[in-house]
This record gives sequence, structure tokens and C-alpha cells, in this order.
Amino acid sequence: MGKMFNKNGTLYIPISESLRLPKDKVIEAEGKAVITEAYCQNGHSLMSDIKINDQHGLNFIYTDQERQKEAAIVISAVVGDRTKVNLDKTVFDKEEIVKILCPACRNELPVLFMCECGAPIYLIYLDERTNPRHAQSFCSRIGCTKASRLRFSQEALTEFKDRYSF
Ligand SMILES: [Zn+2]
Ligand SMILES: [Zn+2]
Repeated sequence: MGKMFNKNGTLYIPISESLRLPKDKVIEAEGKAVITEAYCQNGHSLMSDIKINDQHGLNFIYTDQERQKEAAIVISAVVGDRTKVNLDKTVFDKEEIVKILCPACRNELPVLFMCECGAPIYLIYLDERTNPRHAQSFCSRIGCTKASRLRFSQEALTEFKDRYSF
């Protein structure tokens, strides 16, 4: 077991290791990859009863940095899809950086690394054992066009690796 977090609090993932996807947790629908299970770091399921584009979405709590306002958000489980549903009337600024919490334990989800836009990219796990190699990621800036969509964490990591040429 290596260390779990870097000095700056982001999750430590040995970047040279290749990431694999558990085939049974990702299905294909209309040519797109859809995740069917997702967990916080404490093993709580994030799957929602609410469907987006015919697929069950993922439940999160978004808060502002001061945790003064919050909203229940459902994001699309279709990888690459930016659709989100805000279940509350809470309004966030167009480019606001939010904290993303698990609705069950209200812990902030682990941060994978910083997006090109400067906001943390959050990680969710595809299995209850919280294996970071079986994970998905997305940016926490409202309206980020770079990464505010669910995507394969290995794809995000590859991009990150290329950017900083490890
Ligand atoms: Zn939780
Ligand atoms: Zn971003």
C-alpha cells in the first residue's frame, strides 16, 4: 500500500501504471460508454433514480467554497456527456468552482488533479473497494468546457501526463 494523498491533498496515483476499466461496470448504449456503478471513497453508491438520456444519473451535492449554499446535482452517467440536472433552486455563478460531496456521508470527494481551467478534477470510484484504477473523473468548475463531463480517469491522466510530460 502506497500513500493515498500527495502533499497538496490530491489523490496519489502512480502515473506510470496503466489504468484498466472493469468491463462489467461500463455498458455501451448507442455507441457511448455508460457507467452503471459509482461510489464515494466510503463506498456509498452515487447512482440516482433520476435518468438522464435514458440512463440512471449520478447523485452529488455541490457546495460553494464556504459551504453556504448547496444543491443536489445529478450528472449524466454517459461518459463525455455534459448534461447535469440541478434539483434545487440554488444558483451557482457561470464559472464558479464548487466542492463536490457525497450525498450520503457529505465528505468531499477525492481530487485527482487540477484541471487546465484551474479547478479541481474530482474522482469517483467504480467499485466499492475504491480502486483508483477503476475510477471516473470530472472538473468542478461550473461551465468548464475542458473537463466538466464524466470521463475515463485514465484518459484524463494521459492528458495530464502529456501536459506535464512525466
Ligand atoms: Zn459517501
Ligand atoms: Zn475545468
